[in-house]
Amino acid sequence: MTTTAIGVQPAIAIHPGQANSLHLTEIPRDEPGPGEVLVRVRQVGICGTDRELIHGSFGAAPAGATSLVLGHEMLGNVEAVGPEVLDFTPGQLVTATVRRPDGCPACVAGQPDMCQWLDYAERGIVGLHGFMSESVVEDVRWVVSVPHELAHIGVLVEPLSVVEKALRQANLIQRRLASWQPRTALVLGAGPIGLLGTLLLRSRGMEVVTMARRPGPHLTSEIVEAAGGRYAAMQETSIREVAAGLPSIDLIFEATGSAEPGFSAMEILGNNGVLVLLSGASSPAELTVPAVAINGSLLRGNKVVAGSVNSGREDFEVGVEDLSRFETLWPGLTSRLITRHLDGLADYVRILDRPEGDIKTVIDVDEGFRVAG
Ligand code: BGC
Repeated sequence: MTTTAIGVQPAIAIHPGQANSLHLTEIPRDEPGPGEVLVRVRQVGICGTDRELIHGSFGAAPAGATSLVLGHEMLGNVEAVGPEVLDFTPGQLVTATVRRPDGCPACVAGQPDMCQWLDYAERGIVGLHGFMSESVVEDVRWVVSVPHELAHIGVLVEPLSVVEKALRQANLIQRRLASWQPRTALVLGAGPIGLLGTLLLRSRGMEVVTMARRPGPHLTSEIVEAAGGRYAAMQETSIREVAAGLPSIDLIFEATGSAEPGFSAMEILGNNGVLVLLSGASSPAELTVPAVAINGSLLRGNKVVAGSVNSGREDFEVGVEDLSRFETLWPGLTSRLITRHLDGLADYVRILDRPEGDIKTVIDVDEGFRVAG
């Protein structure tokens, strides 16, 4: 980057690895260099990764810094473009991908989301400041355009891109079959990833059952049902019981944040099916599983268990198209996932609050934007 600092600005940061170090800091306000745009940040979403970073579980500051600015789910407007930028103009609504490549073969080939050496940098997570500041300068290679009609939900492009990648992975894996027409899907977990996964799979015409802990009715079960899915509560019924009432399960997304459901899913996945693990489980650290049954089931049924993390530019682009598709299929439904707004960067003290039923909290960095959007 050849950016020039033209002042300072407030930003929400942590001292990585140190629990509850969330604070407001000041970082340089930069001007865009060649191939870069200056983005005025409008909204930043908060997710489970941010909460883990705040709890000090992981994360790394940029080289030479002690603080890491958080935020990797961003919606903003291009404010200025640097020299040699042809594809973006001021005013345009944009988001940006999260991961920046290292020198591994996958990254060099243009797939930092498949990084082999795990030496990548991730905005707001590892080695690079995130988007919780008034403005950011970004290389256009990582900037993705969002149509103005999606201003009210464009902040969801990043989490949606994570499930877009999961579906893309499943489709790529299933090229091993002469024909794959997934009809039945199970989504485990109904946070933003589980719900966006539900909308995505429903938009592709699959029969979807989404399972989470709490019995409905509540907003989460209403969103699943409004999209034509079925909601089942793990506190009332087991994954095994749900599976017994379904045709062969072709695809499972695991997004609960807990280790156990993933192993249950390995047992009930249909033959030739794919289970995609999407959540980092923090508990329990050790688990007793029916290893012989799982082994036999995976083997005899030619089943695949795949991990999927992060997402590529193509997943952001398809995500943008799919947000429009969701609006056509279920007008107004997707915005119901945004359950809480924080008022500006100074409201950072409320980031960790989790009111009952909260799905996605968004920081309105520019407080006028929500009304305008
Ligand atoms: C982000 C991913 C990222 C991952 C790292 C997630 O919240 O959506 O892009 O790779 O965190 O833990």
